[in-house]
Amino acid sequence: MTAQLIDGVKIAEKIKQEVKSELSGLTAKHGRKPALTAIQIGENAASRVYIKNQKASCEELGITYNLVELPQDTTEEKAIEKIHSLNADTSVLGIILQMPVPQYINARNVQARIAPEKDVEGITPPNLGRLFYAGVNPVVAPCTALSVIECLKSVNIELKGKETIVIGHSEIVGKPVLLMLLSSLNESLTPTVCHIATKDLAGHASKADILIVAVGKAGLVTDAMVKEGSIVIDVGINRVPLKDSQGNPVIDEKTGKSKMKTTGDVNFEEASKKAAFITPVPGGVGAVTTVLLMKNLLNLWKQQLGEPGASYKIL
Ligand code: NAD
Repeated sequence: MTAQLIDGVKIAEKIKQEVKSELSGLTAKHGRKPALTAIQIGENAASRVYIKNQKASCEELGITYNLVELPQDTTEEKAIEKIHSLNADTSVLGIILQMPVPQYINARNVQARIAPEKDVEGITPPNLGRLFYAGVNPVVAPCTALSVIECLKSVNIELKGKETIVIGHSEIVGKPVLLMLLSSLNESLTPTVCHIATKDLAGHASKADILIVAVGKAGLVTDAMVKEGSIVIDVGINRVPLKDSQGNPVIDEKTGKSKMKTTGDVNFEEASKKAAFITPVPGGVGAVTTVLLMKNLLNLWKQQLGEPGASYKIL
């Protein structure tokens, strides 16, 4: 079998056009634009890239983007004070705390102070709590987990009851995915979650009709772990050396260092020979994640304005 690609770029574009059209309708109706505020503590190259991308996405969708830059030596107390002042500021619709924060700050403790109605990433305890209940549609939810569900739903097959293995149990991906897979009373899938302490990972994975991998280890999933005809969703993002056809590293002439490429946790070549559907990396789950942040913001705005449809029907 040669797997069909689950095209994240295409899925993202469709969602983006829907979000854009709804946002412009609400902007015209209410005579103002929504605003997203990101807080960056200290300097971090990776988070600069996220900020640049968030800003570009916001500009494209008619969202005002504000960046609050706090110095490297900001205390946890000061960061929480800033969150409280943004919570009270009626011109701010959504708040993001950019990761990573300096080591001495407990990020979760600071994030938890974001008002649930401004929690655009869907990561505060009250918003995560809504995922716990079957039949309660969340207003916002963690974007990567939502993206996994969007990728799954784009494959037009019945998901109900399907034997599903999730590899990875982080708060940001594995656990919210699990709750989403169980979010319907009668239409849920049948998930098992594997992690670093799982014995016989291959035994679990190879039984999966749906295999969702969110670990951060390139090549973790080999063909022996993929069931014939299954759906494989690869969340991992890894940077690995680029190799030529002989398997030797490709050297960048300018820097003298090995050229790098982005890859997932699944050995794509091997898995795509057995799976029926597979997400590529890049161009799969990651491509959909950012646009779902914008959809979360749209939902927060609809909720604030009392407009209908301010929530997700997950399954
Ligand atoms: P994490 O480090 O918080 O969690 C890793 C998980 O993998 C843990 O549950 C751990 O127990 C499990 N694990 C580690 N080694 C394992 C092994 N050998 N066998 C089985 N399980 C193992 O990571 P995270 O934040 O959940 O991110 C996971 C991956 O997803 C990373 O590559 C990250 O870059 C990527 N990611 C992608 C997106 C996206 O939008 N596509 C968003 C967030 C994270």
